[in-house]
Order: sequence, then C-alpha cells, then structure tokens
Amino acid sequence: MSVSAATIDSIRLPVAKSRGKRFADFFTRVFGCWHLQMGRPMTWAGETYRACLDCGARRRFDPESWLMYGPYYF
Ligand SMILES: [Zn+2]
Repeated sequence: MSVSAATIDSIRLPVAKSRGKRFADFFTRVFGCWHLQMGRPMTWAGETYRACLDCGARRRFDPESWLMYGPYYF
C-alpha cells in the first residue's frame, strides 16, 4: 500500500514542478521577478553579490553577515 503511494507521488512530482514553474513565469512577466531563487554568492571586481536564477537580477551580498542588502539591479 505504502509502496504504491510512493510510486504515485514520484510520478506526480514532475507535473507539479512544471506547473509551479509556469506559475512563476506568469508572475515574472506580470509583476517582475520576486527573487526567491537566488544563486550562490559570487565576487566579481571586488563586489560580492547573488544573482537571481530566473531573471538574473543581482543584489549585493555581505559575506560577513551572510545577508543581502541594497536594491536589486541588472
Ligand atoms: Zn529575479
């Protein structure tokens, strides 16, 4: 019983994922990116930032406090 339930879950998961992606794309188009999926911190030209995985927006990142700060920029 539990085995078949797990099998159904593993089949349904990719469908739910693609729906979530489409939903996110819709929001990105209408409202702009919500920047929840930020990539790993990167340092370039003495500036540390994290970039949005969806739209590429960047935000400055303080490696000492491990927090992002300032406005988003492109
Ligand atoms: Zn973004």
